[in-house]
Amino acid sequence: MERKKVVIIGSGFSGLASACSLAQGGVDVTVVEKNDSLGGRARKFQHDGFLFDMGPSWYWMPEVFDQFFEKFGKKVSDYYTLERLDPSYRVYFEDEYVDIPATMPELYKFFDFHEPGSSKQLKKFLDEAEYKYQVGMDEFVWKPGHGITEFIDSRVVKSLFKLQMFSSIDKQIRKLFKNPKLIKLLEFPVLFLGATPADTPALYSLMNYADLKLGTWYPQGGMHKIIEGMVSLAKELGVNFETETNINGVTIGNGKVQSANSSSSSFECDYLVASADYHHVDQHIMPKGFRNYSAEYWDSRTMAPSSLLFYLGLNGRLEGIKHHNLFFDEDFDLHAEEIYKNPKWPSKPLFYICCPSKTDKSIAPAGKENVFLLVPLAPDLEDSEEMREKYFHIICERIIDKVGVDIRPMIEYKRSYCMNDFKNDYNAYKGNAYGLANTLFQTAFLKPKLKNKHLQNVYYTGQLTTPGPGVPPSLISGQVVAAEILKTIKA
Ligand SMILES: Cc1cc2nc3c(=O)[nH]c(=O)nc-3n(C[C@H](O)[C@H](O)[C@H](O)COP(=O)(O)OP(=O)(O)OC[C@H]3O[C@@H](n4cnc5c(N)ncnc54)[C@H](O)[C@@H]3O)c2cc1C
Repeated sequence: MERKKVVIIGSGFSGLASACSLAQGGVDVTVVEKNDSLGGRARKFQHDGFLFDMGPSWYWMPEVFDQFFEKFGKKVSDYYTLERLDPSYRVYFEDEYVDIPATMPELYKFFDFHEPGSSKQLKKFLDEAEYKYQVGMDEFVWKPGHGITEFIDSRVVKSLFKLQMFSSIDKQIRKLFKNPKLIKLLEFPVLFLGATPADTPALYSLMNYADLKLGTWYPQGGMHKIIEGMVSLAKELGVNFETETNINGVTIGNGKVQSANSSSSSFECDYLVASADYHHVDQHIMPKGFRNYSAEYWDSRTMAPSSLLFYLGLNGRLEGIKHHNLFFDEDFDLHAEEIYKNPKWPSKPLFYICCPSKTDKSIAPAGKENVFLLVPLAPDLEDSEEMREKYFHIICERIIDKVGVDIRPMIEYKRSYCMNDFKNDYNAYKGNAYGLANTLFQTAFLKPKLKNKHLQNVYYTGQLTTPGPGVPPSLISGQVVAAEILKTIKA
């Protein structure tokens, strides 16, 4: 029998995961990418000895990566060397900074120091979070999310209350902890990846388990090593790649997409996997009558934040910071409100500094520092050079205040990246950086569906559909879609 052909639009984590899984299933796979390099939001670029990861920098949930490579008889260590960071990260508060320890006894001590007796509460909180993580990772995230019925027999529905689906994570945290610093520490993972803690189901405390117990890791050579590993695996499995090819339409016949088209080429397919931003494919590639959703539907979704980023090459060492540094020295709730409720450029931004050259000497010239600054922003704000520069100086002043160093005279290379770049480079709806927020009404089968409702052979994957934003979910999303397609091929 002739091998089925699948075309995948986009080479991010979800596209590469589906490409490898489909190729392993005996399918002829072509990945078509609009940019000149692979990896999507996790691309890299180089400048005079500095190697910058453009997007993700936190390697969480290591077993998701282990499981992925193991499916193909490989190990993570075949592609990159992982290191667990200790401390996991540093947090700057108004009056002090704290280093978050990687070991549990140290972490318990840390909690008791800030709120006497709170280590007991932390243990309870993390035990519950571990249960949610296990149910979530064993069952929840692997469901395609076609409808509620697929959850009926699972532990997910049987333990909806135990999973605390209907209460918010901020209530759960505030019931157990009173110290504002501990509260910020526990709320940050959901805030940076999706929605206000008040709008996020307590289910997502599974992220705290991932953070505090499973740890923060780093692949030597940079996060892009994961992409390189996946691309090398995909090529070994026979996947074809076409870069600098923007898909701008499809040819439809017999209730199916027959080909995905760019301005100069046409890629015939039996199945189409859209791993580019769902909204873009739905509204701009699919013709009217074949779209899953309306413009109003998309406009009413809560998007995860966009970001203002700076990639900096510093001519010297930046003392006084760690690999990951969170600046929570201003009002947390105000910034959350200015991302989610009352969108505007933040009055007093929280921000994040990543300095991976603290762990990895290969990504900066000797004696120099590789730095990445990130300010989470509400999606679709007006982006201009003036605003980027204004915020750059606000951040630099805060670094002087908290770390005691003015980085500006040290700058050898500087590149900014914001809303307009997300739109131009990734066709990102409203310039989102991390897809769709994890609110209760955008969880599981309530997320945009991974199958086209009108065309039998069109599927969606990536951070705007199940299971959600972030590298591990995107990796899972690609595998879930591939499994759905392979099921229909084998049926
Ligand atoms: C700044 C930043 C920091 C982040 N930090 C973290 C982190 O620390 N940890 C973490 O787990 N997650 C993090 N994330 C989120 C994570 O990077 C994403 O969830 C994940 O990479 C998304 O993968 P994806 O496959 O869904 O989409 P993408 O990576 O966006 O891939 C989609 C691809 O489709 C291509 N494309 C779009 N339109 C077309 C078209 N018409 N034709 C052809 N190709 C097209 C795009 O160019 C892109 O390559 C971060 C994201 C950003 C932006």
